[in-house]
Amino acid sequence: MEHYDVAVIGVGGVGSATLRTLALAGFSAVGIEQFEIAHANGSSHGETRIIRQAYFEHPDYVPLLKLAYELWEKIEAHSNRTLWLRNGLLEIGPPDGILIQGIESSVQTHDLPVRRLTADECRKTYPQYHVPEDFVAIFEENAGVLLVEECVKSMAEQATQAGATLFANEPIQKIDFGNTHVLHTANQTIAAKQVVVTAGGWASNWIAPLRRHLQLRRKRLEWYSATSSRSQADARCPAFFYELPQGYFYGFPAIIQQVKVAEHSGGKVLPNPEAQNDDHAAYDEECRRRVDTFAREYLLDAQEWRKSQSCIYTVSPDEHFIVDRHPEFENVLFAAGLSGHGFKFAPALGQILCDMTQGKKTSIADFLRLQRLT
Ligand SMILES: Cc1cc2nc3c(=O)[nH]c(=O)nc-3n(C[C@H](O)[C@H](O)[C@H](O)COP(=O)(O)OP(=O)(O)OC[C@H]3O[C@@H](n4cnc5c(N)ncnc54)[C@H](O)[C@@H]3O)c2cc1C
Repeated sequence: MEHYDVAVIGVGGVGSATLRTLALAGFSAVGIEQFEIAHANGSSHGETRIIRQAYFEHPDYVPLLKLAYELWEKIEAHSNRTLWLRNGLLEIGPPDGILIQGIESSVQTHDLPVRRLTADECRKTYPQYHVPEDFVAIFEENAGVLLVEECVKSMAEQATQAGATLFANEPIQKIDFGNTHVLHTANQTIAAKQVVVTAGGWASNWIAPLRRHLQLRRKRLEWYSATSSRSQADARCPAFFYELPQGYFYGFPAIIQQVKVAEHSGGKVLPNPEAQNDDHAAYDEECRRRVDTFAREYLLDAQEWRKSQSCIYTVSPDEHFIVDRHPEFENVLFAAGLSGHGFKFAPALGQILCDMTQGKKTSIADFLRLQRLT
C-alpha cells in the first residue's frame, strides 16, 4: 500500500488546482479521478468559463478572485497552452436589478475598474448586443474567458511535473476514515494522512453532512453559428451576461468557431450525477427553446443552432460555496456546492485547501464555512 501526505478525491476543476498546489508546496500528494482528466461527465467541460472580479454575487468573493487572478497568471505562464482570453465582459440589466446593483457593490467595496454605459452607448460600442432602452451595461475590461478543459489539463500536468501522483479512470469505491485514511479503488489501496474531497456533484458521497445542503441541477449549453460581418464572430468580442425578467443568460463570442449561449438561472433537479445520462429530451427541448428565444432577441449575430451539451451545477442553499473541514474528521477537507460559478476560483480554492492541510489561517474564505448553513 502506497502512503501519501494528502489524497485528493476528484481531479476536475478544483481537484487539479489543489493537487498542483499541494505538489508545489512539497507534499507527497495523490489525485484520484474516476474518469479521464478533463472529461464531460461533471462540471468542468464545455470549452469556456467566464472569469471576472466585479462580483455581483457578493463583494466578499473579490479577495479570493484577486488571488485566483494571480494564480491563473502563473498557471498560464507555466503551460504550453492558451488558457485565458482577456476579452472583457459586458453585463447588461436594469439599473436597480440584482446584477448591476451587485456589481456596483463589489466595485465600490474594492475599488475595481469598470466602465458604465447607457443603453445607447452600449449599442454604439457593441452593436452585436441588443440593449433595452431602460437597461444599462457595465464593461469589465479585466474579465475574460478561461478555456476550461485546457485549464484542467494544464493544472493536472503541472501537478505531476511537480511530483504528484495521478490516477485517472480509477473511481474511489470506499474510504476507511481514521488516523490514517485508507482509500480503495478496484486496483489500488492508498493510505493518506489527510484527504481533500473535490468531488463536485459527487461530494456528498464522502461528506455525508453535505447531503441535505447540495442540490444537483442539469444545465444545458447551446452553440450557434455567427455572422462574420459583425464582431460577435470575433473571439475578441467581450463575453456577455444579461439579467432579464425571464432569467439570467450568458455566453461567449465565437472563440471556438461558434457562439456559446446558456441560461444561468433554473435547471432540472437530478437525484444523483449519474442521472445526467437518463432521458431528459422534453427538458432539453425547453432549454433550447428558451435560449433560442433569448439569442434571437438579444444576440444580433447568432444564427443557426449547431449543438448542445449538458453539465452539472451543484448548488448550495444560498448559492455560495462550502469550504471547510469534515465535522467529524479533522483531517478531511472539502470544497463543494460551487453553485455554477466556481471554476474561476479553482486555483484560489486549491491554495486555501492546501493552507488548511497545514493548519494555516484562511480567513479570506471564512464566509464559506459549512457552519453558516447549520
Ligand atoms: C454549464 C456550466 C457553466 C458554468 N459557467 C461558469 C462560469 O462561466 N464561470 C465559473 O467560474 N464557473 C462556471 N461554472 C461552474 C464551474 O464550472 C464549477 O463550479 C466547477 O467547474 C466545479 O469544479 P469541481 O472541481 O467542483 O467539479 P468537477 O470539475 O466536476 O470535478 C469533480 C471531479 O470529481 C470526480 N469524482 C467524483 N467522485 C469520484 C470518485 N468516487 N472517485 C474519483 N473521482 C471522483 C469527478 O469525476 C470529477 O472529475 C459553470 C458550470 C456549468 C455546469
